[in-house]
Amino acid sequence: MNADVVVIGAGITGAAVARGLSRYALDIILVEKEADFCFGASKANTGTIHAGYSDLPGTVKSRLCVRGNALYEQLCKELGVEFEHNGSLVVALNTDDLKILEELRQKGITNGVPDLRIIEKDELHQMEPNLTQNAIAALYAPTAGIMSPYEMTIALCENAIHNGVTPLLEAEVQGIEKQNSRVKRVITTQGIIRTKFVVNASGLYADDVSQMVGIDDFHIYPRKGEYFIFDKGAGSLVNRPVFPTPTLISKGILVTKTIDGNTMIGPNAQDLDTKYKYAKDRNATTNEGLNEVLEAASRLVPDLPKASTINNFAGLRAVSNTGDFIIRSYQKIKGFINVAGIKSPGLTAAPAIAELVIQILKHEGLELKPKKEFDPIREKPIKFTDLSPEGKDALIAKDPRYGHIVCRCENVTEGEIVDATKRGAHTMDGIKYRTRCGMGRCQGGFCGPRVAAVLARELSIPLEQVTKDGDGSNLVVGKTKSVLKEKASV
Ligand SMILES: Cc1cc2nc3c(=O)[nH]c(=O)nc-3n(C[C@H](O)[C@H](O)[C@H](O)COP(=O)(O)OP(=O)(O)OC[C@H]3O[C@@H](n4cnc5c(N)ncnc54)[C@H](O)[C@@H]3O)c2cc1C
Repeated sequence: MNADVVVIGAGITGAAVARGLSRYALDIILVEKEADFCFGASKANTGTIHAGYSDLPGTVKSRLCVRGNALYEQLCKELGVEFEHNGSLVVALNTDDLKILEELRQKGITNGVPDLRIIEKDELHQMEPNLTQNAIAALYAPTAGIMSPYEMTIALCENAIHNGVTPLLEAEVQGIEKQNSRVKRVITTQGIIRTKFVVNASGLYADDVSQMVGIDDFHIYPRKGEYFIFDKGAGSLVNRPVFPTPTLISKGILVTKTIDGNTMIGPNAQDLDTKYKYAKDRNATTNEGLNEVLEAASRLVPDLPKASTINNFAGLRAVSNTGDFIIRSYQKIKGFINVAGIKSPGLTAAPAIAELVIQILKHEGLELKPKKEFDPIREKPIKFTDLSPEGKDALIAKDPRYGHIVCRCENVTEGEIVDATKRGAHTMDGIKYRTRCGMGRCQGGFCGPRVAAVLARELSIPLEQVTKDGDGSNLVVGKTKSVLKEKASV
């Protein structure tokens, strides 16, 4: 394979870079070790588009957060992704906290965050009636918002592919060869790619990939964050992300509503000593962690309907020992760009990270010839549940599969599952992140087997080959009765 640019990692960062580069006449390959896009940190976070008052002025992340926030409105329009500009609150529970609010406000002003203001108790409780009576004031940032991080990442990938980017999934980068101090070949488990430019957006593993070209001046370690998500039936207990005052290492455990209307609480922040050991367990939640989340969130919103939690999950932040995003090229290895240490606010900053990476590539000698045929629009997939009754009738008349509800909790139809497979989903999680099948109250208990059957049919594979999220996560191994029959006949 040949490419002008190889982008390693199909999380929000790599997806934004690949989509940004697809504006130009270039051959781009987006390489991802997992079975689908967005299987790393980008799938398991709060989904807040931060305003930009949290980060230290002068850091790369503070600048890119504010810029990324400003770019999202237009990007969401182009990609048909929902974005609610509902603002965010940092709540003061005592007089010490008031000082912190003012510090955050000042930081925000220095970072260029517009319209920040401190609101008093009455206004705060009007905005958030379920908030604790101990809340005495808050920093209100109207430019913050919420979105679905996986919908956005997948939309960026789809639009990038529509504009000519080649995705290479289940392709782990295992080596990068150089010649005369310039990147030359990327060795993946799906083959070798000849290229002159490599963008390393491999999240938690960015230090390992960087070491493949001999750059080892930083390291990345995982910081786990755990969450609870509540049933939609419990309603939106808050109208926007509501944070406590920050801790030394995180923005604190918040209560938020998701773009899909669930209440969500979390994340805590627990540094892990390794990202390698027990790979599958790293993302597991713990009793201690979840209790910490529940206790902290209850300080903001008392009487959380604990019996209405429908799932808990964890995400891993890719924290660099430099304390900032590392986005740069190197004198000693031409054509290699690191995009590492992209912890929070990486989701917010992603469109601005892409802008910066493209500038760096240009500076490194990549020719950027705009493509006339670049199409910024990604058609929004049909969401049956959002259609009017007339719209639903018309759709069912055209394609009866839209009249067959498969996921009853989220009202997802067979037509939408089929459409998701046509858009590239080939695992249960791939369907889930594209359609919300299995994200409701039953968490796939009811619809799971039906989704698997549709997936097997559409991919023309036996049910035994349907996986949750790629190799080794098969749902079923065979027919129980056939085993019994075999035994009986012996
Ligand atoms: C708990 C938590 C809460 C957060 N909340 C927010 C928030 O509210 N707002 C916000 O702005 N940010 C938030 N963030 C940060 C945000 O989620 C991340 O900054 C962002 O998702 C990072 O994206 P990424 O593409 O750099 O990494 P990832 O999404 O991890 O993508 C990296 C990809 O590289 C792939 N990869 C790794 N190694 C290789 C290899 N050798 N070969 C091929 N592929 C490889 C991985 O499989 C992965 O898909 C949060 C993060 C966490 C964990």
